[in-house]
Amino acid sequence: MAIQWFPGHMHLTRKAIQERIKEIDVVIELLDARLPGSSANPMLAEITAAKPALKVLNKQDLADPVRTALWLEHFNALPGTQALGLDASMSTPAKALVQACHALAPKRGGMAKPMRVLICGIPNVGKSTLINTLKGKRAAKTGDEAGITKLEQRITIADDFYLYDTPGVLWPRIIVAKSGYNLAASGAIGRNAFDEQEVALELLDYLRQNYAPALEARYNFTGAAEMTDEQILDVVARKRGGLMAGGKLNLQKAAEVAIYDFRAGSLGRITLETPPEYAEWLAHGQKL
Ligand code: GDP
Repeated sequence: MAIQWFPGHMHLTRKAIQERIKEIDVVIELLDARLPGSSANPMLAEITAAKPALKVLNKQDLADPVRTALWLEHFNALPGTQALGLDASMSTPAKALVQACHALAPKRGGMAKPMRVLICGIPNVGKSTLINTLKGKRAAKTGDEAGITKLEQRITIADDFYLYDTPGVLWPRIIVAKSGYNLAASGAIGRNAFDEQEVALELLDYLRQNYAPALEARYNFTGAAEMTDEQILDVVARKRGGLMAGGKLNLQKAAEVAIYDFRAGSLGRITLETPPEYAEWLAHGQKL
């Protein structure tokens, strides 16, 4: 069973972006560096196609640096597009953002033609955190759950550089099954919209094939690459408090532990998709 999530209300966001876009010079899309393909919203690309785009791979502290480099290279090769990696530990992210925007829209700048930038991203990608850092004070509310609504706002980064927050919520749009699992694992979609065991099995299967040593180190076992995802979930249950009276395994608890460990970075720096993998899913994956 694939994850199907239709939170609705996207038409309001679409309308609001369409109304605003004429007066925007660069569109920043914040992506989750652990799933740069799946955390993009294809609707955004559709309504902002003609505008220069800055892809920010956020939460890069949690992502595999080798794969982040591959994704940056991939985005930088697209016309009218630049990409950079960021994370919340950076105290002055504005410099990199401002530089990239000026490179994308070189004719803007100065009091007569201030740079006008729209910042977008699906929930939980770290937009409030970044905006707070850019503002230099903790004003906007941040939360760990998908769907906290934020009011539209303009942030003055410099006298001639304005950043506009997206009006409304840009929900993820899940177009292939794999993306749904990756979004669920990352915390981008509501907890009630997916089955933890199903998501954990997909996650463990991917980790088994791509990050076996990280799994083995975290749960203290060997042979991950040759095991099935179910066998690994059993190991997680045995090692991490999922062993019930009579030797029965609490697989629900194990699934929650595995997902939590991934989200918290306890498995190390992991990226759940590469550019060719994501392209392959779009071309041949199970469509939703
Ligand atoms: P928003 O929904 O896009 O506004 O996301 P938030 O700014 O509320 O952040 C969602 C969660 O991700 C919060 O728990 C943040 O502390 C966390 N977070 C944000 N940016 C980063 C980052 O760069 N690295 C890590 N590790 N966590 C981050």
